[in-house]
Amino acid sequence: MNDPARPMSGGGETLAEQARALVRSSPSGRAVVRLAAAVDAARTIAPAVAVLGHQGTIAVDTPAAIGAVPGPVLDLPRHVAMPPLVNAHAHLDLTGVGEVPFNGVFADWAGQVRSRRAQTPEAVAAAVHEGVRRSVAGGTGFIGDIAGNFGLAALESLRSCAEHEGLAGVGFVEVFGIGKGSARGVEFLKGLRESVVAERGGIRLGVSPHAPYSCDDAVYAAAAELGLPLATHLAETLDELQFVRDGSGPFRELLKSVGAWTPELAGWGHGPVERLQEVLQGTGALLVHLNYLDQVEFDRLVQRVTKGRGSVAVYCPRASAFFRHPAKGRPAHRYRDMLAAGLPVALGTDSAIVLGDAPTISVLDEMRLLHRRDATPAATLVAMATVHGAAALGVDPSLVQLPSGARRGAASLIAVPVSAAAAGPVTGMLESDQPCEWLWR
Ligand SMILES: [Zn+2]
Repeated sequence: MNDPARPMSGGGETLAEQARALVRSSPSGRAVVRLAAAVDAARTIAPAVAVLGHQGTIAVDTPAAIGAVPGPVLDLPRHVAMPPLVNAHAHLDLTGVGEVPFNGVFADWAGQVRSRRAQTPEAVAAAVHEGVRRSVAGGTGFIGDIAGNFGLAALESLRSCAEHEGLAGVGFVEVFGIGKGSARGVEFLKGLRESVVAERGGIRLGVSPHAPYSCDDAVYAAAAELGLPLATHLAETLDELQFVRDGSGPFRELLKSVGAWTPELAGWGHGPVERLQEVLQGTGALLVHLNYLDQVEFDRLVQRVTKGRGSVAVYCPRASAFFRHPAKGRPAHRYRDMLAAGLPVALGTDSAIVLGDAPTISVLDEMRLLHRRDATPAATLVAMATVHGAAALGVDPSLVQLPSGARRGAASLIAVPVSAAAAGPVTGMLESDQPCEWLWR
């Protein structure tokens, strides 16, 4: 807790304010920031120098490679610079729901969230705006947000404030439809392209069939046909696996309780990845969670890597921990095996409900969890939080990389504090518990 999130110089100004003031005051229009390190998916530079101009980051490299630059200097010897982060899976409209304890049954938890979530357009807008604020405060430049429960109001709320806050990405409108609810889901999807513009305010329209236990094959097919960015929760719980296999278990009871169940819902006879493999082929779908994959399902998942517009796995480590995955006797999440097989794995935060008292909504904290728990190398974590997230959201990867050679790179930078006790700066930014700050945005 000893490492300050911001230096004491500058009278309490943010780093971004200090950096901008230096560039404005510089006769050359340049300012130099000296850092403990700078990292992106390709490189670790330690120590590092960032050259800033009126349009943002011009160059980031070693002191020797940068050489002498005329201009004022900002010294940040206990910070690491990074490109903006990508949060590939959030539910911003659930920001502010507060604590919803998990009793071990996911369907019960989801029911509580349904009854407590923002209902009016005004309440939805307030929740989304707060979610955007917390995301940007956590260094997020790009987001894949689920606009919950046919959430056109949530999508428009995001579109109305994201650009102003410096956030871009995809708003995935969430659809439910199974059994007696299937026709409604399909109808909604058929009208979506006509009723909603493909992009506004830096946020592209996407679609999210919620999960294999809440959407049937007709809804998934209608979603895939739209050709929009697509995300779905997949292989999240053992209850989901049971329902997809034979139609039994807590999700059958849930569907009965909401009047959606029909006798045809008797399962597909195999796992959820296999069930959705054909329909999602070539859609570039974000496959969110993937907590439970047996070897057959894992092989099917990574088989698709080389075929057409590939899917991207999205892992939300804190959400998985909140819901006590993996269940006793089940193997750990296989994100490292996925990466080794060539499947991109992006990071997501899921909803703020599962983030405890974290002040920001940031995949930096997901990186820190995986570093602590699994000793996952920093380079892997940085790639998951940047270029793999960009692949998931269809974002130009150069926007989440440092400038290098001919590549312009991200104009914005974040600065992550380094833990005082750490051996090296990049390890130190993962061992710190302090939030990042924007160095330029
Ligand atoms: Zn989710």
